[in-house]
Amino acid sequence: MVPGTRLVILGKQGAGKGTQAVRLHRHYAVPHISTGDMFRAAVRSESEFGAKARKYMEAGDLVPDDVVIGMVQERLTLDDARLRGFVLDGFPRTVHQAEALDEILPEPGVELVVDLEVPTDVVLKRLASRRVCVECGTNYSLEKPPSDPEVCDVCGGKVVQRADDTESAIRRRLELYEEQTAPLIAWYMKRDKLVTVDGIGDPDKVTTRLIRAIDRRLGRGGDA
Ligand code: ADP
Repeated sequence: MVPGTRLVILGKQGAGKGTQAVRLHRHYAVPHISTGDMFRAAVRSESEFGAKARKYMEAGDLVPDDVVIGMVQERLTLDDARLRGFVLDGFPRTVHQAEALDEILPEPGVELVVDLEVPTDVVLKRLASRRVCVECGTNYSLEKPPSDPEVCDVCGGKVVQRADDTESAIRRRLELYEEQTAPLIAWYMKRDKLVTVDGIGDPDKVTTRLIRAIDRRLGRGGDA
């Protein structure tokens, strides 16, 4: 374990960002900040803020930049993120959000952006079969369900299909990814902050690949 780092994880919906971000959070001992999880928690709490976010999310649309940026800014100024770093998952998702992140963070900003690469035909299959625990967020699939298909093996919560994992919302999210998020790959590459990792295969192997790529780029670990 190497404590502390400021990472962003990029990737299409269904690339495995959430799963891998949790593992990176454990490995680097930094908070996992997922804007999707934050919005889902707001929806569950039935707050006014949650009701607003829900409309965008269920249609597969992006929540407006000013709302997301305000929420992330507030989260990043808490002590844990300020002092130890973070794994940001789901943010930034537009160039405007990336510019805002640069303004929020003190120099030198984000250390590294990892692009978890998975082809579209694979993510489409993964998303259609994805099931998730509403309590702890553990992901399952129709191929690998929990022992009782509706009950989470980890926490006993209810396992459901996400409201935005319908065919039309999936299509919309992937379109928005290509339009708004994919340009971030070139944006961060230009700033020499991008590393690309193959997201295909066993999740444990992908984690090993990620940690190796991150440590190598940040000059940590034995084989830097
Ligand atoms: P996915 O990557 O599969 O779309 P997430 O869990 O990251 O799932 O996000 C779920 C939804 O939350 C998004 O479809 C969007 O409506 C909203 N959301 C999350 N992050 C952002 C963001 N950075 N900007 C705008 N909307 C966001």
